[in-house]
Amino acid sequence: MASGSGAVVTRFAPSPTGFLHIGGARTALFNWLYARHHGGKALLRIEDTDRKRSTTEAIDAILDGLSWLGLEYDEEPVFQSHRAERHAEVARQLLDAGHAYKCFATPEELEAMRAEQRANKQPMRYDGRWRDRDPSEAPEGAPYVIRLKTPQDGEMVIDDAVQGRVTVRNAEIDDYVLLRADGTPTYMLAVVVDDHDMGITHVIRGDDHLNNAFRQLPIYHAMNAIEGGWPQPVYAHIPLIHGNDGAKLSKRHGALGAETYRDEYGILPEALFNYLLRLGWGHGDREEFTKEEAIAAFDLDGVGKSPSRFDLKKLENLNGYYIRAADDARLASLVAARMEGEPDLALLEKAMPQLKVRAKNLDELAEGAAFLFHNRPLVMTDKAAALLDADGRARLARISRALHRENDWTIEALEATTKALAEELEVGLGKLAQPMRAALTGTTTSPGIFDVLVLLGRDEALARIDDQIDHAAASSGAGKA
Ligand code: GLU
Repeated sequence: MASGSGAVVTRFAPSPTGFLHIGGARTALFNWLYARHHGGKALLRIEDTDRKRSTTEAIDAILDGLSWLGLEYDEEPVFQSHRAERHAEVARQLLDAGHAYKCFATPEELEAMRAEQRANKQPMRYDGRWRDRDPSEAPEGAPYVIRLKTPQDGEMVIDDAVQGRVTVRNAEIDDYVLLRADGTPTYMLAVVVDDHDMGITHVIRGDDHLNNAFRQLPIYHAMNAIEGGWPQPVYAHIPLIHGNDGAKLSKRHGALGAETYRDEYGILPEALFNYLLRLGWGHGDREEFTKEEAIAAFDLDGVGKSPSRFDLKKLENLNGYYIRAADDARLASLVAARMEGEPDLALLEKAMPQLKVRAKNLDELAEGAAFLFHNRPLVMTDKAAALLDADGRARLARISRALHRENDWTIEALEATTKALAEELEVGLGKLAQPMRAALTGTTTSPGIFDVLVLLGRDEALARIDDQIDHAAASSGAGKA
């Protein structure tokens, strides 16, 4: 697995205890872009060592979300849980070389130690009670964990690519557990061994992991002393994402799994890609980037130090922009999948230029397109029905007569005819457009009314208009206007 070459290798290392949420997706994106920008490799590692909380459902959702976002990886994902043997091997190497030791402290003993630290208001950390003891002092066959013998003097320095220089005194890092009594590796050990074995050169992750970096470094240092070839990776700890109100991001702020944005919000992947890109990274005033442009422009020096704020409204606005830019045939099939039955794709595609002008998401497009597929006679919303009062119906009857005489069924001709009628009746164009819209779509919002006439076609449009006139005549008992 080791690469050994000088090229950049990054990894995204999600724990599949939940889906691909906004923060994870952004970490994935930054890692991916960094690798692509530098012509390196982007790798994926599923950190599924917490067997109880990791689910295949979450793994599938993460893989699915990443590929939907267009982040493809250069190798098959590494599953951390498959590598437990290798993690244990490194723990034993550390033990044999004196960089780790067996600790026989019982859970009760450790609990008492912590209680005392709590009572004395001391930081809670392992006190090194087995650090210098001989294992022969332990009772025969007693269970033990393997702890890292962390240096106690001096300090560690990380020149973080985002946070700058961070220094921690070695004394602050306790001798934490590498291998549990049952022989399973801890997360801290697994991450370092996997990053080394995968040849990771750059660790880009949320700054909630900055403390972990200082716990992980002593393993690199010790292994480097033992066998060499364990260089410290470059770290880039990116600030977390906050909600609009500045508080830690949660579901309440609309922070959900990628599939929710796709399925429920009808967000296009390129919109989420761009939104995430600009969440904590900037490149002048530039707002929109294609994938290629993002790869060309991305680097860690553009990542800011302060937390960014997630704003669902902004994401939706950006989505509107990408919907307008999207290919109509592609939109038609995305929208069709959100509609009942099997709507006519050609008709949907034809309607897209008009529909997408105002839509912020795919559901709005689907709602806007629904009128095309309604069966006659149309069911009216309350607002639409209100427009078809006696006055409205009378105007509709005049429109019907004028349109029946119209043979040039184009936007221009229909507009000219309707305008002429409005002048003749001495009413504004809206007075005619409103009842027409109600009759043609059953609602009070739609694309431009002449677009609607053309999209429906002459026969269907006239039939829908006449349905409302006949209906009016029948229910009021009055003759045709
Ligand atoms: N699995 C960790 C997480 O999901 C990330 C570990 C790392 O990037 O080092 O938070």
